[in-house]
Formats: sequence, structure tokens, C-alpha cells
Amino acid sequence: MLQIANLVKKYGDKTAVDGLNLHVTHGETVVIMGPSGCGKSTTIRCINRLTEPTAGELIFQGVALNQLAYPELLQVRKRIGFVFQQFNLVRRLTALENVMLGLVTGGMDKEEARVLANNALAKVGMGKYVLQKPPELSGGQQQRVGIARALALEPELMLWDEPTASLDPILVREVLDVMEDLSKTQNITMVVVTHELPFALHVADRIVLMDKGKVVEEGLPQQVFSNPQSHVGEQYRQLIDYQLNMTEQKIYGKRIIA
Ligand code: ADP
Ligand code: MG
Repeated sequence: MLQIANLVKKYGDKTAVDGLNLHVTHGETVVIMGPSGCGKSTTIRCINRLTEPTAGELIFQGVALNQLAYPELLQVRKRIGFVFQQFNLVRRLTALENVMLGLVTGGMDKEEARVLANNALAKVGMGKYVLQKPPELSGGQQQRVGIARALALEPELMLWDEPTASLDPILVREVLDVMEDLSKTQNITMVVVTHELPFALHVADRIVLMDKGKVVEEGLPQQVFSNPQSHVGEQYRQLIDYQLNMTEQKIYGKRIIA
């Protein structure tokens, strides 16, 4: 459903994405991981041209996105949802109005937009909070509004750029739960940039590891994290080992005290 071929993005002399290739099939949840600065955000933002690629091909459902004129691009963007790290909500609008905003500015009738926005908010468990404004909501609730906004048009593809990275660790879980639920129950293809290893292990159909603007490894989560072929993969494997060890030691410690 999405093919990225030889994607390049340069900022002046700096190459942020360096000939990246990625195929995503319908219904798949692909998790992209890699060190900070390796080009994850740039890649995901190039998909719907929030960032303009320098070169390369982006084919979404048979349409060459990189060749579309702006009005057609706007039409195709309606089929692609984007969830940002910073929720980007309008503070003076209610949750419902925040979700309606994009629909109405996209030309939809207000009452129709209200129905779709209410449905989307219900899907992310925010049905009770539709009239609250962002400052009255927790970070996790705000991000769920951000997810509802991306979901409202029932997109075929959803792009997520570190959706939990700005959250208090205690609030991360509610957002990951919503993401897992969408991945498993809705017919949406997802490309997710995240550092959440348990989510990647548990929910991803495929892990894509990036380094220095390129894909360096991809495969099933178990395969990539237990028998990595790349330097970055090896670093993740060690991190998982370390976290498992620490958890075991903590449980063991508790038993001794008890
Ligand atoms: P990641 O999301 O993996 O942390 P990014 O895609 O944000 O990485 O950035 C990749 C590289 O491109 C980094 O070196 C970053 O500094 C650079 N970069 C990103 N956005 C811009 C920009 N708007 N202008 C100049 N350089 C940028
Ligand atoms: Mg980033």
C-alpha cells in the first residue's frame, strides 16, 4: 500500500535521509526505531510531504505522492492520519472542536464533522471529555484527542512520530493501549516511530531499524531483537537484556525482603 524508493532529504549540505527504501503492506503495523538524529521524523514526514523530499519516489495506493500538485496532495492527505509528538491542539477549543477543525476546514459540513469527531473521540475512550479544553486534560488525554483528530476521517494509513515521547511515563500506557487497540481492531495500516520497546516487541508486525538516514535492518521483532544483524540492532538487544535483568533483580530483591 506504500512504497518508498530511494528517498533522499537534504538540509543544505546535511543529508538527513540517504536513499531509504521501505515497503509497507496493507494492514501492517511497522515500527521504525533508531538513534536520535538518524532521520526517523524526516522519513515519516516525507511520506505525506509535511517535509518535501529532495529526491525519491513515494507511491501510496498506486498514486505517486511526490508528483502530485498541492490541491491533489491535500485530497490524498485526507486518507493519511498523522499523530505528532507535541499534540498540536488548539488550547482555546474543546476536544470536540479540535477534532472537528480539520474536517470543517477541509470543506465538510459542520454537523457531519460533529458526528465523525464524536465517533473518533469515542474510539479512543474520550467520549466523556468532548467538551473539555486541552488545559483541563492530562497529557495522555490530550494525545488521545490528537489520535482522534487523525482517526476522524477513517484514514487508510496512520503515521505516528514518537506519540508518547512528550508524556509523563505514568501516562504513556494509556496511549500505547489505544495504539495497540487500533492496530489490532481497525483496518488501518500504521507506520510508528517509537522508542517503546515493549510496544515494538508486542504489537509490531515488522521492525525497521534506521541508522544515518538508511534502513540497516528489518524483520520480525523476535528475529531482529534476538539475533540482530546490525550494530543498532545489537544495541537494542543489549538494552532489552539489561531491562529484563533489572526487572528480574527487582523481583528477586522483593522476594528476599518479603
Ligand atoms: P530523528 O527523528 O531520527 O531523531 P530527524 O529526522 O529529526 O531525526 O533528523 C535527522 C537529521 O536531520 C538530524 O541531523 C537533524 O538535525 C536534521 N534536521 C532535521 N530537521 C531539520 C531541519 N528542519 N533543518 C535542518 N536540519 C534538520
Ligand atoms: Mg524524531
